[in-house]
Amino acid sequence: MELLQKIIDAGVVGAGGAGFPTHVKLNCKVEFLIVNGSECEPLLKTDQLLMKTKPEEMIKALEEMAKIVEAKRVIIALKNKYKEQIESLENAIKSLDSKVEIFLMDNFYPAGDEQTLVYEVTGRSIPAGGIPLKVGTVVSNVATVVNIYEAIKGNPVIEQHVAVQGDVKNPIILKIPIGTSVIRCIEEAGGAILDDYSVILGGPMMGRNVDKEDLYKEVITKTSTSIIVVPKDHHVINKNRISIEHMINKAKSACIQCSYCTEMCPRYLIGHPIQPHKIMRTVALSENSECIKEALICCECGVCELYACPMQLSPRKMNIYLKNKLREQGVNYQNHQSEINAHEQRENRKVPAKRLISRLNLNKYEYQKVEELKEIEISMVSIPLKQHIGAPSEAIVNVGDLVVKGQLIGKMEEGSLGANIHASINGQVTEVSNKIVINSKYGEEK
Ligand code: SF4
Ligand code: SF4
Repeated sequence: MELLQKIIDAGVVGAGGAGFPTHVKLNCKVEFLIVNGSECEPLLKTDQLLMKTKPEEMIKALEEMAKIVEAKRVIIALKNKYKEQIESLENAIKSLDSKVEIFLMDNFYPAGDEQTLVYEVTGRSIPAGGIPLKVGTVVSNVATVVNIYEAIKGNPVIEQHVAVQGDVKNPIILKIPIGTSVIRCIEEAGGAILDDYSVILGGPMMGRNVDKEDLYKEVITKTSTSIIVVPKDHHVINKNRISIEHMINKAKSACIQCSYCTEMCPRYLIGHPIQPHKIMRTVALSENSECIKEALICCECGVCELYACPMQLSPRKMNIYLKNKLREQGVNYQNHQSEINAHEQRENRKVPAKRLISRLNLNKYEYQKVEELKEIEISMVSIPLKQHIGAPSEAIVNVGDLVVKGQLIGKMEEGSLGANIHASINGQVTEVSNKIVINSKYGEEK
């Protein structure tokens, strides 16, 4: 249990997704401990860098994590195209005489969807609406494993690796303090080469899009991975601008019920009872059907919207809209499947990453040279008290306090789901609200 306490103390959360607190996730007993090294969204880079440069740290952390969860098998799953990473990890496994295994996957999307990944590695389909624990598995992300290594050494999560790419002068991976502004990150990459642009925070399929004029609100958090600068009218950006009302009208007039969205849906293909074409029909025709509850088991991967649909419709957006409505009504997904069988055509329907990149009109960025690592000094950070799933942390510093890098400044509420927050630079606290602002030059400016 000592490791779990160290993870709590260090404020480790899932670095690749929504920020689920890691100490809660690892408080279980499983057969498989799997590391998601697929980095499956187009253009993402940071996990690849970590697997190449920190393999021994990863293996050492995994050995400790395996003891906690009593895993019989510990497996790093990554794509077979990551040659350098495979070599680094294999060398580390050998030199540490570890039993950690490597599992290789094809270059398809969404190889990193947790349920798809578990199916690939174990051959087990997680019941719809369930979590990997249901099939004796726990999944962790590469950056999370590296953060656990640091937590073992007593170091909290205060920095993040973030790739800045797309239409910037010098694409780069930065190692930066949490709370750094996204605008500063773009400046560190030489600045945008477009006057008018939008930014994808995360991957192009599941990330969040922010217009240039709203960027001042955005900072790096424990779950940031990538900043992609693209033209304001880029296909990926425009797709997300469509309002739900417009989408429902489009579904009424343009959905031809071809069912490609269902036939290509990764969750449908592992055997889950989700059929987005039926959801589209139900909403378009204002029918009353139980099938809209299937929206609750959509992972929002975007295959239906950005790859499958020939009519440019957005079943994913429809599902997000329905999910929110159902949750407001207190509706939870009830699984009635007695047996789950993956679709017999699943292998043939995996979306090749290369074709996806073309479809997204991202080819021009795919082979961009990205400088591998730059560490930068930051004089001001704005650290959100909620960077994770669960309750916000409670600030334990006040305006005017001097803090040092690594100091606990936001405490997880005792007994609740959450994570600790630490100062990412030395300086003086200048604001405490839903964030803690630290300025290292505060005294000098006065
Ligand atoms: S793929 Fe598009 S057009 Fe075909 S059923 Fe799905 S939403 Fe309708
Ligand atoms: S976003 Fe579309 S393809 Fe992905 S899980 Fe949801 S319905 Fe299926």
